[in-house]
Amino acid sequence: MARTPLIAGNWKLNLDHLEATHTVQKLAWLLRDAKHDFNEVEVAVLPSFTSLRSVQTLVDADKLDIKYGAQDISANVSGAFTGEVAGSQLAKLGCDYVAVGHSERREHHRESNELLAAKVGAAFDNGIVPILCVGEGLDVRKEGKQVEFTLAQIDGALEGLDAERAKQIVIAYEPVWAIGTGEVATPEDAQEVCGAIRGRLTELYSAELADGVRVLYGGSVKSSNIASIMDKPDVDGALVGGASLDPDEFAKIARFRAHQVGL
Ligand code: PEP
Repeated sequence: MARTPLIAGNWKLNLDHLEATHTVQKLAWLLRDAKHDFNEVEVAVLPSFTSLRSVQTLVDADKLDIKYGAQDISANVSGAFTGEVAGSQLAKLGCDYVAVGHSERREHHRESNELLAAKVGAAFDNGIVPILCVGEGLDVRKEGKQVEFTLAQIDGALEGLDAERAKQIVIAYEPVWAIGTGEVATPEDAQEVCGAIRGRLTELYSAELADGVRVLYGGSVKSSNIASIMDKPDVDGALVGGASLDPDEFAKIARFRAHQVGL
């Protein structure tokens, strides 16, 4: 099955709503021809909550071909959960995607696989596609246990998820040692774990379902390394942090097909 590549920018705790609007505008302008030439790549940005309304307004008004979403979602529906943002609130802002279980949230907010399974459910309850982030730290990589560690995260976060929902999920393999470090995994490293994730989806659901799920790589992706990573058969896109804050660089990443054919 042909999987549409997804290039998603995780802006983390950067850009106020004015900067976010400017960045989306420039990105859309830079990609204006890409839709025509390379129209099978989906591009998304994940701004801070405070920018979502502005991004929505811009994307809707100018009918921009850019998707957007949030960096986190509450597992709760409503009520006494100060500071949390519910799936229904994100859906009202037109969010297509939400990142769930980014390693920074797992580390700084102690998010467990059980909580993440609830967040995945909350996203689907509101018609938002979760981008489930998984990946090992340096200690696990040094022991050579990256595949089993990552698959255990998958098992935990997909617990109880039915096939109808699972077939829509996006999974981002992000080795923690490669995030924001400039230390990019080799294409072979990315393929090893992304392929194993697809294998696990086959075991948990079916080969047909696994074949349709997009598995992204994330960790120090740049325009100079995206093409070789995207050449791997089980890598269907990228979750990009630092480089997504620069629209010129992010647009080049989104146009990875131009690098692949040497344009
Ligand atoms: C990320 O935040 O998901 C990420 C991959 O960051 P960076 O591209 O900066 O390594």
